Amino acid sequence: MSAIATFLASPKLSDPVAGPLGLFGGTFDPVHYGHLRLAEEAISHLGLQGVRWIPAGQPPHRAQPGVTAAQRLAMVLRSTADNQQFFVDAAEVEADAPSYTVHTLERLRRELGAERSLVLLLGADAFAGLPTWHRWSDILELAHIAVSHRPGFPIAANNLSPVLAEAFRRRRPAAEEQLKSRPAGAIATFAMTQLAISATQIRQLLANGLSARYLLPDTVLDYIRAHSLYRNP
Ligand code: ATP
Repeated sequence: MSAIATFLASPKLSDPVAGPLGLFGGTFDPVHYGHLRLAEEAISHLGLQGVRWIPAGQPPHRAQPGVTAAQRLAMVLRSTADNQQFFVDAAEVEADAPSYTVHTLERLRRELGAERSLVLLLGADAFAGLPTWHRWSDILELAHIAVSHRPGFPIAANNLSPVLAEAFRRRRPAAEEQLKSRPAGAIATFAMTQLAISATQIRQLLANGLSARYLLPDTVLDYIRAHSLYRNP
């Protein structure tokens, strides 16, 4: 069954109807335990009703990934299948156009309404790069942002560009409360178990014929082996 057919056959087609909903975009090339713990801990630390995973189609901010978007989606589907609070949104993978986060948020607002609290989950490295994103200040009006700590990327105003540091200073006070009481606009942070795992490291290990076991789920490694992915540097 293709990844998209698997998605359509999934019983978890719609996310919970109320409460803050986490949105987790990424290349997931491949998905690993850093991603899975971020989503899992965001639910408990921020009181989210669930997390909608949104694998990027054609990432505008980085080189094209080494595997197809459908294969990255298939790996996300495998890694999230047994968690009833995880949902997978294949729209960016299925789209022909580049996946800009602001367009995805506008689509989700049309789908979920203006009042629903939406919480965009970002690792600290992704957050630091936010001012380079298309229409980044509109993103702050469409969703809250929750930034997770990540090894090597301290969250501190002096590590951020001046415009982002200013937005962080204004939007951070009482952010955790606002995730529950407002649809968008706050910037929260949360401390997750620190896992110095990256997809880059996993791709390098696999390209060198080394083990990546225990950095990502076995179901994903099985898929990588079955499709001979990440073999060449
Ligand atoms: P790459 O090494 O290819 O750049 P990555 O491991 O950073 O990939 P992405 O798919 O680019 O993974 O990341 C998606 C999101 O997950 C980003 O917001 C990123 O900051 C976050 N993230 C990835 N790995 C971790 C980790 N180990 N701890 C916390 N956040 C993470």
